[in-house]
Amino acid sequence: MRSTVATISSHSALQILRGAKDEGLRTALLCLKGREDLYSRFRLADTIIKMDAVEDLLEKGVQKRLLDENAVLVPHGTLISGGRLDEFERDFKPPVFGNRHILRWEYDRDLKDKLLKEAGVRIPKSFRSHADIDRPVIVKLPGAEGGRGYFIAKDAKDFERKMKRVSEKGLIKEGEAEKAFIQEYVVGATLYPHYFYSPISKRVELLGCDRRYETSIDGLGRIGARDQLDLDLIPTFRVMGNIPIVLRESLLTDIFEAGDGFVSAAKKLVPPGMIGPFCLEMICDEEGRLYTFEFSGRIVAGTNLFVGGSPYSDLLYHEPMSMGRRIAREIRTASEKGLLARVTT
Ligand code: AMP
Repeated sequence: MRSTVATISSHSALQILRGAKDEGLRTALLCLKGREDLYSRFRLADTIIKMDAVEDLLEKGVQKRLLDENAVLVPHGTLISGGRLDEFERDFKPPVFGNRHILRWEYDRDLKDKLLKEAGVRIPKSFRSHADIDRPVIVKLPGAEGGRGYFIAKDAKDFERKMKRVSEKGLIKEGEAEKAFIQEYVVGATLYPHYFYSPISKRVELLGCDRRYETSIDGLGRIGARDQLDLDLIPTFRVMGNIPIVLRESLLTDIFEAGDGFVSAAKKLVPPGMIGPFCLEMICDEEGRLYTFEFSGRIVAGTNLFVGGSPYSDLLYHEPMSMGRRIAREIRTASEKGLLARVTT
């Protein structure tokens, strides 16, 4: 029986389903309540499995339907934000494309730092205590949805003043200030390269790059400095969309070096290592140095820009190759060679 590609109805689902169809695979959509109409407009799902919430993925009935369909689940960002990753790792029976164990490393700030350090990439310096701040920092509040209330501080005094302000505004709970993540603020351009690692060809591919379009931070530049001060605005970093980037060609050496380093680190720390799509969230400073401040160990929504392929996928494949299609191709190739276990966990 041919494989079915299954995914949850959000994030990059349309692209994943379309990619599966392009590779001649069947598709199943795990459709969240209220989204049926949206997804039916695109006619990409052969089967629809209804769910009230992301956690329903763990229900026996849902899992049985996926197993009956011979489905491989393609995880994306919505699965991570749904939490309960321990249970997902342990109790979810159908095969998952990629390394299901790395999702927890993406979710947990300490594990994330450990993996990035092992990858040998340049990371913005982090500070244990605000007393140690010796350069501009970005302060990331625990549980801040959409980055609401993140602030920039230049020294310990500035930190205390601004922390007081965010707690007065109720953006941080009492006693939680200590849990804020303090990281060097890198002035530069954000870049999110989209990588794919194939355990079959043992190659790291670059399939695209984007930057995010975030509200309200990307709108603040449209308000004059004086009005910004008067309005006492608190910026948020909620992603609303993505903007394509083509990288300066001489940056590609460092981009690939970072991707290769990440794949080696994952092999060492998170067996069986990286499989499929991942993204390193970077800032490039004025000297052209790349700093990695986050990673995603699965498909990122920025790849939605390239349903018809990107400049990089075109150089590699000479046919439209989205990340969704690249995933489906890996599933198809692996299953034709009897190697599905090598690309799933
Ligand atoms: P995050 O919640 O870590 O994804 O950060 C939200 C946004 O803050 C990012 O999209 C960047 O625009 C910005 N940002 C995060 N970390 C840094 C940093 N170390 N230096 C400069 N900007 C940052």
